[in-house]
Amino acid sequence: MLNAEIIAIGSEMLTPFRVDTNSLWLTERLNSIGIDVKLKTVVGDDESRLEETIRDAIKRSEIVISTGGLGPTEDDITRKIFARVLKRRLILDDGILEALKARFAKRNMPMPEINARQALVMERAEVLPNPNGTAPGMLIAEGKCVIAMLPGPPREMKPMFDASVAPVLKQQVGDVVILRRKLSIFGLTESRTDELAAPVYTKFQNPTTTILFKDGNIELHLTAQSKTDTEANRLLDELSGQLDEVLGEYIYSRRDETLEGVVGELLRWRGYSLATAESCTGGLLAGRVTEVPGSSEYFLEGVVTYSNEAKMRMLGVPKEMLDEHGAVSEPVACAMAAGVRKLAGSTFGIGITGVAGPGGGTEEKPVGLVYIALADEDNVTARKLIFPGDRQFIRTLTVNSALDLLRRRLN
Ligand code: ATP
Ligand code: MG
Repeated sequence: MLNAEIIAIGSEMLTPFRVDTNSLWLTERLNSIGIDVKLKTVVGDDESRLEETIRDAIKRSEIVISTGGLGPTEDDITRKIFARVLKRRLILDDGILEALKARFAKRNMPMPEINARQALVMERAEVLPNPNGTAPGMLIAEGKCVIAMLPGPPREMKPMFDASVAPVLKQQVGDVVILRRKLSIFGLTESRTDELAAPVYTKFQNPTTTILFKDGNIELHLTAQSKTDTEANRLLDELSGQLDEVLGEYIYSRRDETLEGVVGELLRWRGYSLATAESCTGGLLAGRVTEVPGSSEYFLEGVVTYSNEAKMRMLGVPKEMLDEHGAVSEPVACAMAAGVRKLAGSTFGIGITGVAGPGGGTEEKPVGLVYIALADEDNVTARKLIFPGDRQFIRTLTVNSALDLLRRRLN
């Protein structure tokens, strides 16, 4: 695989207010044509730092892409520093100068003298047209290295990359098909996932595997490279088949679906319906369920019963039960699930009660203690869970766990 690196140039991205998003977009594009991004750098408008960065980049990478600093102002130094490092002259291109002038004339403005700088082109560089702005880009071959200098504004950079840079890189890469597959996992810790998965995926150089963690969800990203779709798919099938053997029931999607999407599909498919009763999650579960378009086919209603009084009045949770066990307890979660199921006349009812914190925890009922109950026609089962983290994390994990509980029930 060819190796690329990206240099984002501009001091504003070294402030707390602006982030370099160009490199994310470029990485996605480069990956999709079979090029690996090995490094990226954000450099301010500082001549010596930029010079060092460019020198190192062209030594170690086969493809170097810079964005930003091609504008007309004093702090736009990209052109100048690349020219210095590559020991090439900058030459005023009359064609570009005329086009710049025409662009200003069209808006009835004289061209400021400093804009002439944008007509400076490096020797032996290919000029990349910029239909969306004033600064043209440049494509340069330097030894084995391909260098692309692109403007900073995303709306100028993206079309320029697609029109003028991608075709050149594709040709350099040759016939490569890159296919990805995402396995979404829930119910395992990060370390346990890797303990199970690493012995499998480390046997494979192709596909490569990366693991991402987010809110208790784990994603395994498999990337296969081959000459044909069929072969790349075969490689993915082989690795994901072996991962299935060790992670099977924990994998909720192989097609980049959400947990609520998977659950919704299962409910719809079987003609089942759902109602929810939430305390500590305050309606987040109902929110997630209804994020799925078409969820009205299976989601009947969700109630937020935050107070004890609401639990009694809406769901028929007995007062004695609340007095004896407290609101955060297994019997109350079960009564909530059964209560809302009856209220809505649904196939399933889910009840959630817990301590989301930060206050309100006791030794017996610590912050993070959650009961999730699932009721169907015949019985009610509950799970006791203790989550780490802050209020938001606990609530998110609770919702994910409730969805996963139902998913497993429907599988
Ligand atoms: P211009 O002619 O507009 O000055 P330029 O090539 O000199 O173009 P910069 O001045 O470096 O580009 O950046 C212009 C604007 O583009 C920035 O203010 C910022 O909004 C956006 N931009 C620059 N670099 C990035 C980046 N890496 N990611 C996202 N946005 C960027
Ligand atoms: Mg600029």
